Amino acid sequence: MQIIHGKSGWIEIICGPMFSGKSEELIKRLRRAQIAKRRVQIFKHGFDARYDATSIVSHSQMSLPGVAISDINEVLDLVDDRTELVAIDEAQFFSEDIVSVTNKLANQGKRVIVAGLDLDYQGNPFGPMPKLMCAAEYVSKQLAICMSCGDPANFTQRLTAATEQVIVGAAEIYEARCRQHFEPPTEEIIKKENKEQANG
Ligand code: ADP
Repeated sequence: MQIIHGKSGWIEIICGPMFSGKSEELIKRLRRAQIAKRRVQIFKHGFDARYDATSIVSHSQMSLPGVAISDINEVLDLVDDRTELVAIDEAQFFSEDIVSVTNKLANQGKRVIVAGLDLDYQGNPFGPMPKLMCAAEYVSKQLAICMSCGDPANFTQRLTAATEQVIVGAAEIYEARCRQHFEPPTEEIIKKENKEQANG
């Protein structure tokens, strides 16, 4: 992806299924910015303690320290005026306020890089990701490798019967699948999930 630098800021999205290398790509872009001596601040959603509660960590163990938050609006208070690059990982878990927050940061002249799952385990758009992708100047869609056939994989297959949209975990609960091998949950499981959510 070629980014043409202007005077104003901009938003970059890195999206795709689990294991598609979103965290690796985010870490790569951040390391290059740090080499260029840019002032960087990194945030991630608070309840993703996949390996380390205060770091962005990839499945291949690359990591960079970040600050865990649960309300995306906190970013506006935490970002220093001098910061040039703001990175946000696991964006799918945040509220739709992430669109106005990232727009504000970009309007202040900052480069904003956001990584997140674009589809949930049902194969539906995940949280604020569609609106965020519309707001962004640059969108990079990553694909993983299908664990059934080795083709490019656009979907995240949940391997357990659990029904919540958000289960934070890794290899033992999810795997990447292509269009042909992705099996979305049955109507029965989705109805059970809706009932559980309605009951709080
Ligand atoms: P994401 O943030 O998209 O979940 P990560 O950047 O954390 O992805 O991890 C990507 C790494 O995961 C790959 O470089 C590879 O080492 C590993 N990996 C494990 N399973 C797969 C798979 N099915 N397809 C591609 N990479 C995989």
